[in-house]
Amino acid sequence: MTAIAPCRNSLIEHPPESNFVLSLMSATADLWVAGRFDAAREALVEADIPMLREWFHCYAQDTTFQLWRHGITRSALNKELPKDRKTPGDASAKTKYAIFERDAWHCRFCGIRTIDPRVPKRLAKSFEEFPWGRRNLDKHACLAVLATHDHVVPRQWGGSNEVDNLVTACWPCQFSRVNYRIEDCGIFDPRDRPPIDSGWDGLCRVLDVA
Ligand SMILES: [Zn+2]
Repeated sequence: MTAIAPCRNSLIEHPPESNFVLSLMSATADLWVAGRFDAAREALVEADIPMLREWFHCYAQDTTFQLWRHGITRSALNKELPKDRKTPGDASAKTKYAIFERDAWHCRFCGIRTIDPRVPKRLAKSFEEFPWGRRNLDKHACLAVLATHDHVVPRQWGGSNEVDNLVTACWPCQFSRVNYRIEDCGIFDPRDRPPIDSGWDGLCRVLDVA
């Protein structure tokens, strides 16, 4: 498979609703920190925009479609994967959070703000009647903007868990690339761009409240 000249930062494009959900989740955090739990719960329910939930589950996670729309076929990748590969285990939680802090809670691919994955879990614990349940948080629209980590050189291609191979990603960017190398997807190396620091805290302020 030949390398594609880099021409984009990410395979996906967030709809405007992603930023709307981020605003509502931020409002939820503010209300929750202020002890206005009923209003926080209402904002959390409002943030669960069906359109974004659908976009994430039907479109953003459809990796075959994401690759196809950029002219990349999955079978070509699988033929080239090193046969004797030993895939290392995943990075530690400590490493992942160091990456999130370093990247100021922005996706290093598409640049969108992301939310600390502990935040919705913490909110769910506070709301006994949380409509999505503790084990069903992935049904909330905020999953489309939750922070995860991504190996720039995929583990299957020998990529390590060293911090210089890890970047913060939103789930759609993480899903869309699967185990393709950036050169297979025509994506610019995100490490060549500095992290975006807008002062966004990933809504970590929620975790500071006892
Ligand atoms: Zn992204």
